[in-house]
Amino acid sequence: MDGCHADSKTVNLTQLKNLIPKILRATQGFNLNVVTLHSSIRDHECKSLKIIRLKTAVVEANFDWTFVRIESDEGISGLGECFFAPGLSSILRSLESLLRGEDPRDVHRLFRKLRLATSGAGSSAGIIYNAISGIEAALWDLLGQSLGVPIHRLLGGKFRDKVRIYADCHGSEALECLDDVLRSRPARWLSHESTHVAKDYFGAGHDEPASTPAEYKQRALEKQAEGFTALKFDLDVPGTYAADPHSRALSNRAIDHAVSLIGAVREAVGVETEIAVDCHWRYSASDVIRVAHELEPCRLLWLEDPVPPDSVAALMEVSAKVRVPIATGENLFLFEGFEEIIAKHAISIVTPDLQKVGGLAIAQSIAQFADVHTMPVAPHNISSPVGTLLSAHFCAAIPNFLALEFHGSDVPFWNDLVEGLPKPIIQDGFIRVPEKPGLGVTLNEEVTRRYARKGEPFFE
Ligand SMILES: [Mg+2]
Repeated sequence: MDGCHADSKTVNLTQLKNLIPKILRATQGFNLNVVTLHSSIRDHECKSLKIIRLKTAVVEANFDWTFVRIESDEGISGLGECFFAPGLSSILRSLESLLRGEDPRDVHRLFRKLRLATSGAGSSAGIIYNAISGIEAALWDLLGQSLGVPIHRLLGGKFRDKVRIYADCHGSEALECLDDVLRSRPARWLSHESTHVAKDYFGAGHDEPASTPAEYKQRALEKQAEGFTALKFDLDVPGTYAADPHSRALSNRAIDHAVSLIGAVREAVGVETEIAVDCHWRYSASDVIRVAHELEPCRLLWLEDPVPPDSVAALMEVSAKVRVPIATGENLFLFEGFEEIIAKHAISIVTPDLQKVGGLAIAQSIAQFADVHTMPVAPHNISSPVGTLLSAHFCAAIPNFLALEFHGSDVPFWNDLVEGLPKPIIQDGFIRVPEKPGLGVTLNEEVTRRYARKGEPFFE
């Protein structure tokens, strides 16, 4: 068997496994058997796997989908996705030196190393965790591939084979393209005839609302017809009679309009399809309570981010005074970011974003703590299929899963970006959890390159 060990220096693990039948045929009569050969491979698996490179690429979709690839000396590479952020590729590449030469299977230790190295040992939030989340995801992908098992197995196995997806419907028109500081831009993948009207998410409101109840109703019926059993709409789309965008105040006229939008959706889809509503932290506790009271007859699945999540007292006030479940979490980091609001029941539904919260292991600890407090988890997700499928593995592996977001309805190449699964990836409002090793898909490099953001490295 020494010869086999010698060969392993030039043949990667996957190639070696594929060679087993050939080796057995060629060595018949030489006292070599399957058990010793597999034993040799297992030894090989235990001894040698080193990170040699970290590469990045950014796809210009409705958001900047930022990918990180971690390559090993065995020819196996892991793929992860990060929530967009200014300067993110540069941060990712800076972290490469901390990973090079490390065994990628030591996922928890490497997370700890990255956290300590980038934080002065005390960081608890921020863009660095967007980067670390993508790296951690790539490590799980690599680990799963090295062992030949899907990521959900590494997390302890499945509670369900299919993950329920809810469709984000934005403000009736989901076709929006935002850069890494949320400036509206013309999408390169739109036809040349289309005329882009830039929206200003931080400017003054307009006299006329951006959307009508009829538009919300139409969008809801489209998504319901596609098989989604849960939908989410924005209440704070630009132009909803918000005269002063900084005051957090809502006029009676604005509240009436918001209620008319969601009322139209409820009337259109009936009681079976569930409706969530997103406020994006824009309102005062007192005014969002007024809105929530008006929306109570709509029997919402949840009211998302009514006030900033770091104001625990404001969240508790809203939760205590309305009969609508309050959800938050997409802008919180690590377990520590969630601990107080869960322990104090300042919210009812927990919505971590796996592309920024700090990684799968952190998300699992949050879900377990939420489960102790009887709270469901509904991960926020604006990612490509790469991040969405990672979230699907997570959602399959926790008991208290409610629904996973899908934010790419109108990106025409969303399904085409990856290979390895039946298409469309979302069928009748569900994703079947991948069973192939690791994440279960690889990037279609041709499609990825076609929509790559100009000026960004492309896995170079
Ligand atoms: Mg949200």
